Amino acid sequence: MFDDGTTSREIEGWLCETDGARLKELWRLADDTRRRHVGDEIHLRGIIEFSNHCRRNCAYCGLCASNSGLQRYRMTAAEIVEAAKKGAAQGAKTIVLQSGEDTYYDAQRMCGIIRRIKSECDVAVTLSIGERPALEYRAMRDAGADRFLLKHETTNRRLFQKLHPDDDFEERIACLEELKSLGYQTGSGNIVGLPGQTIEDLADDILLFRELDVDMVGIGPFIAHSRTPLAGYSDGSSELALRVIALTRILLKDVHIPATTALATSDPGGRYKALQCGANVVMPNITPVKYRARYEIYPDKAESLETPERNIARIRRMAESLNRPISTGYGHTLKHAV
Ligand code: SAM
Repeated sequence: MFDDGTTSREIEGWLCETDGARLKELWRLADDTRRRHVGDEIHLRGIIEFSNHCRRNCAYCGLCASNSGLQRYRMTAAEIVEAAKKGAAQGAKTIVLQSGEDTYYDAQRMCGIIRRIKSECDVAVTLSIGERPALEYRAMRDAGADRFLLKHETTNRRLFQKLHPDDDFEERIACLEELKSLGYQTGSGNIVGLPGQTIEDLADDILLFRELDVDMVGIGPFIAHSRTPLAGYSDGSSELALRVIALTRILLKDVHIPATTALATSDPGGRYKALQCGANVVMPNITPVKYRARYEIYPDKAESLETPERNIARIRRMAESLNRPISTGYGHTLKHAV
């Protein structure tokens, strides 16, 4: 049904499929592929949203520089390390440091934070801080960062340019290639249901994930934010996002795929469903609660006021109900030895 020669047309067919029996077959195949290639374990990646300052103006994102209604914050290095330690104590074996594109955290600051986390906690460190010069990526890798997430968001160049007035698609891809060459485990991803996006675009996204040969893929539905240029547009479909997850699992096989917060926000059962159609990672929010509401990339973000302990406990219960263990390993890439 699927192989290395699967075409964009075939993927589009699955994204538009209306036959319930065929769809059931898709979910089953995605779940089987997940089990065979990455196993039953669910990896916990505790995410710390350490700054909501951003120099960019991505049209969909509530952190965009032009959103003057957002109260901005920056966590201190001590607060970030403390949050990481708490997450590690709760069993997270990866700490994800995410922020807007905030150059206040220059390479020196980031390297100091990474070194402290790596020396004080037994965890892998993932960065999700946007585009930086190659020298900075190198310094952070030398300081011990293991992975980097940089979603390409959409493969449609014209749409990318429209939604990212101060960014460039080719530069983003060049950053991903640079990160790979520095030895980072890399992650890309897209947003499903962006205004102006077509089914063909989504099929191209999946084929690009495969071409980029990334280690991780983050997929979530678009959720409109009232203080962005996309205010008033319809949200993306969580069901379509689940199909993109399922097809990505089937075609890429051994990548790590999170059941994203965007999915949980758009459908309260979204994470549970994602874990049954290809996902094998959950990213509990371990940001101190006092900052949570201000990291408003989209409204009504799932778990925006729950403590890290409660978030992690809920994920453990979800794993239990699926009869799947929480991993006690780092959850590194399965594509090559680390
Ligand atoms: N600044 C870093 C970057 O651009 O890679 C990381 C932070 S950024 C806020 C994290 C992700 O949030 C983006 O890659 C984007 O996919 C997602 N995001 C932002 N606004 C969104 C929205 N309205 N709906 C769905 N996802 C959104």
